[in-house]
Amino acid sequence: MLISKDSERFWKKVNRKGEDDCWEWTGTVAGGYGRFWYNHTMVLAHRFAYDDVIEKIPDNLLVRHRCSTKTCCNPSHLLVGTHTDNLIDAYRRGERGAPSPHYKKFYIGELDLIISLKQNGIPASTIAKMFLSSPHTIAAIIKYPNTHYKHSKGDSTCL
Ligand SMILES: [Zn+2]
Repeated sequence: MLISKDSERFWKKVNRKGEDDCWEWTGTVAGGYGRFWYNHTMVLAHRFAYDDVIEKIPDNLLVRHRCSTKTCCNPSHLLVGTHTDNLIDAYRRGERGAPSPHYKKFYIGELDLIISLKQNGIPASTIAKMFLSSPHTIAAIIKYPNTHYKHSKGDSTCL
């Protein structure tokens, strides 16, 4: 751990409890996540915590929560992962609203996710359950993604 002024300033804003408890961020929160002003920019608090205590975050990876407390900065509740890992978790926890069964079109972000899940070896039947769709539709999406999208929607899952 690099003991710096920033680090000191950061940890003062974290409600550190027991080793296994969630350590909630007491500073600014935006979009559900803690924000910390660092190096002339607003960074995500849990990313700072991971970077400060565990290791430098590898390029292109997100810092994810093992717990479901978005403001938690307990390094032992944090792990790095990909955007896909994150979305899968969110779907499992039911945080992201899946499209209704009658909703035939998907957003671009969802199509990308479906394709990436399939590429990661997740069976179409499992993907279908996540999206409340049918394996047949999922298979069709993978084959002809362009015919299934509604319109672009910025994926704001911020991590
Ligand atoms: Zn936690």
